[in-house]
Amino acid sequence: MMKLRLLALILALLLSLSACVNIPGLLPTEPGAEVTTPTVIPTNPTDGATEPPTEAPTEPTDPPVEDHECPDEDPYQNVDKTAFYEEYTPACCWVNAQYRSDHGLLSGAMEVPGQYAQDADYRPMQNDKYVRNTATYYTDNGNTYIVVDSYGNEVLRIYEGGGYITLEEVAAYMYAFGGARGSIPANYTSSKSTKPANSIWGQYLRVNHSYFSGDTSRYPYEPKLPDISGCGGSLQYYEMDIGTTGTITPGYTNPVLYNNGSKITRGAARLVYTRYDKNNNGIFEQNEVYVFYTHNHYNDFREYLNYYGGWGEMFGNVTGGGTFDSKYNYNPTPYPTTEYADFMAA
Ligand SMILES: [Zn+2]
Repeated sequence: MMKLRLLALILALLLSLSACVNIPGLLPTEPGAEVTTPTVIPTNPTDGATEPPTEAPTEPTDPPVEDHECPDEDPYQNVDKTAFYEEYTPACCWVNAQYRSDHGLLSGAMEVPGQYAQDADYRPMQNDKYVRNTATYYTDNGNTYIVVDSYGNEVLRIYEGGGYITLEEVAAYMYAFGGARGSIPANYTSSKSTKPANSIWGQYLRVNHSYFSGDTSRYPYEPKLPDISGCGGSLQYYEMDIGTTGTITPGYTNPVLYNNGSKITRGAARLVYTRYDKNNNGIFEQNEVYVFYTHNHYNDFREYLNYYGGWGEMFGNVTGGGTFDSKYNYNPTPYPTTEYADFMAA
């Protein structure tokens, strides 16, 4: 009995030493993606939901995927970027994502999103409100975040330090790493004037990462975001661009690609998220984590609900019948609160 326990302990130790060992636990989304047992990093240490799950949330139905050899040295030293993107597959793991970012290579999906968020077919509701998923699944010492669908099944993984351009991935990235780790995707720069040609990221460069006051006395058409500092609240929000295929919005009428490789046309799509609390500390408590998407330059917003395609009810100025960007004819509808529930416990 003791021998068995010792063996199991040694095995567990060995497994934990390698970042790319397969342990069947969550459903892999594609062949070659390694599967590791999820560990929970509690976002709210006071709410009692700090125990890691004793078993995986979903039973694996596929056979374990084949182990892949993770590079122990940079595989992209003399990379041909055109060939890389012609045969593109997302990063296989966090280590791989770091090597890619060193060369300005994406880790996530390479399809540029449209202006509007794409909703999941099923978005759970409770008490007539959309549910925000409170389950957070990190692996690799918190460097990897697992995005689930509305049934709690794994959809994709987000690697901290990777490059991402899709709305779903950037939203999940910021939800997982934005407030808690102060991290943004590697292809983003806070400098709004950076030119694609001067960046290793080229057409995948995304700009803007700056304070968003949300001051509704200056911008009365903007809806008031929860506890936002510009309205006397205690949460400091930041904004960043979402590069789309083009935004058709009054005042931003050029429906052109965000970044064509030589020029950035910023358009009207932004992600807005909670970055700091009032003491300039990060955001660690779940009820302080907010990620919003605005497709029309802060007139209207939808909340990211922490699952793939999880977008809450639209609210804001145009929703309420106000005139876009108008300081005279405005009617922003209030933020619709959500119900918090753990998808993994369902
Ligand atoms: Zn790998």
